Amino acid sequence: MNLILLGPPGAGKGTQAKRLEERFGLVQISTGDMLRAEVKSGSAIGLEAKAIMERGELIPDSVITAMLAARVEQPDAARGFILDGFPRTTPQAEALDVMLAGKGLVLDHVIELQVDDAKMVERISGRYTCAKCGEGYHDTFKQPKTAGVCDVCGGTEFTRRADDKAETVGARLAAYHRQTAPLLPYYEAQNKLRSVDGMAEMSAVTSDLERILTSGA
Ligand code: AMP
Repeated sequence: MNLILLGPPGAGKGTQAKRLEERFGLVQISTGDMLRAEVKSGSAIGLEAKAIMERGELIPDSVITAMLAARVEQPDAARGFILDGFPRTTPQAEALDVMLAGKGLVLDHVIELQVDDAKMVERISGRYTCAKCGEGYHDTFKQPKTAGVCDVCGGTEFTRRADDKAETVGARLAAYHRQTAPLLPYYEAQNKLRSVDGMAEMSAVTSDLERILTSGA
């Protein structure tokens, strides 16, 4: 099974993708995570991407599409994948269609997490992750049980994304509306688009997604 989670930054794509990964044995492919790893390693792609990401803009389609194509070739992707943060433009969606057709693969579901834009700034600017295991937390919505200690691995170091600053979030949301939202009618025309209420409780969102994936409803 191969699927796409669509929605603006802060909609919960990453959180939900991780949950579905475990439940359905799929692999999460997050182009944002891949780019952050490139930036950290100081690779050529990372050097090109860093400033663009910090401005809240999108990486050129050709760069990101090549990166995704290489990732989909990895053996673990054969289990089925959840795309989180890709595609983000119509050319990326078209390239993905060609890529999948060339491999004899299909997109089983495209699911939009519908959220209230006005709430995304608070959601995004408060989030942070355990530097050791990547567990996600939030200043308002999800603090560790013991302050400063990760519930999952006991790690005591936490990181915040450079582009989660309130001033960058506006640019990221604008990029979503200008460049990514046109994918909704694109997938609707392919009769693949489903939507869930991304403002519901995290576990309720997971249940809604599971229902779609198990029944196709
Ligand atoms: P994300 O973690 O998905 O919010 O992505 C963080 C940043 O990485 C975005 O704001 C973009 O600068 C870049 N990025 C991630 N995925 C893509 C993509 N599919 N196309 C272009 N830029 C991307």
